[in-house]
Amino acid sequence: MVLPSKKHFVVALVLVFLTVLPLVHADPDYWIPTFGEIWATRTIYVNIPKTPAKAHDMTVQVLTIWNAAQLWFASRYYSNSPVYTLKESSSGSVSVVFTDQATVDSIAQGEKSDTGWTTNKGDPYLTGSTVYLVTTKIWLYLVLHEFGHVLGLGHIKVKSESAKTCIYPDLMCHFVYDEYPSTLDLYALHLLAGALRPDKVNLPVNIPYVDFTPTAILHLTLPFSVHAAVDGTDQGSGIFQVTLALGSHTISVPQYVTLDDSRRLDFVGWSDGWKYLDYPLDISSDTTLAVNYNTQYKVTLTSSLSAPKARWYDQGSSILFSTPPSPQPMNNSLSVLGAKWMFDGWYENGQYLSSSSRVSISVVAPFSLEARWHPDYIMPIAIVVAIVLAIGASAFLALRKGKSRNRM
Ligand SMILES: [Zn+2]
Repeated sequence: MVLPSKKHFVVALVLVFLTVLPLVHADPDYWIPTFGEIWATRTIYVNIPKTPAKAHDMTVQVLTIWNAAQLWFASRYYSNSPVYTLKESSSGSVSVVFTDQATVDSIAQGEKSDTGWTTNKGDPYLTGSTVYLVTTKIWLYLVLHEFGHVLGLGHIKVKSESAKTCIYPDLMCHFVYDEYPSTLDLYALHLLAGALRPDKVNLPVNIPYVDFTPTAILHLTLPFSVHAAVDGTDQGSGIFQVTLALGSHTISVPQYVTLDDSRRLDFVGWSDGWKYLDYPLDISSDTTLAVNYNTQYKVTLTSSLSAPKARWYDQGSSILFSTPPSPQPMNNSLSVLGAKWMFDGWYENGQYLSSSSRVSISVVAPFSLEARWHPDYIMPIAIVVAIVLAIGASAFLALRKGKSRNRM
């Protein structure tokens, strides 16, 4: 056993110091004020009017993004640390009001460059809040910004009021430059959710200043041999999930997938009724999609009357095959003499099936189907025999005539 030496002790001290250091030595430029108030409970219920539906849905999406962003930040830097959870509820301590610009302006006063405005009530705990959102300006970043206030975040310091700039772009900038919460916004929330009440939060130096990129999971169900591509890149086959950045994507699947020589899959459509191979997906939350395919079997059709052909039919379908009425004239010079094709019957994989001109077959496997005919030369033979007999008879008569003339 090695006892810790003095040197080890110094190393340990330096390590402790280095661990604490990032919290005290931060980039002085990157800081955000808070309201210095915290919520009494970490689950915050939000009452959102159902109409306009688009505004309602966008607000729900914002709750999801703030929740996901905090979890993302915690998983990277402070695993299992407390986070706030925003939840839609019919009786929330946060009320959303969809209204017009004039109403917001009359309430907002100092914050007119935001088209939405938040009031917080209660001290030292936040117990309630009203978020006013202008229905004509339900923009994702703006609603996110207002909910940043709901959670207790203030504005990033303004660089120039006249040029409408903050010292750096951030969702919590007064002029709202940025799309999604930054690590700074999330670090501040991490402190608030941990029941700390800093007025001003610096980003620790071990945490880079970056934006959270919100994602959602797409759960796809395909037949095992079918691959799906997202934005042109193959993502897998069968049942799988893929994490996508929120926004627009194109999911593509093939029309046919060959299983073997006589079996294939044929695209039918998407589980929600979309009928095209390319699916335009605007993903805002976890989404489940399935793609339906039919199994098709190859049927080889042969007939004495025409060239062989192959057709694909859906598994389980019932197909009516028909052939021209029997007899059929031959398509050659003998037809003049009455040569014809006589129908023998249908043969499935070489086995006799039916002699009817129409046959209905349920497709449960690949098969070959033959419409078998045989040639009927009775008429031409009879004619040839008749001609031969006639020629023979006339020759015989001519011969006899000649003989009797000779006798004379
Ligand atoms: Zn604001």
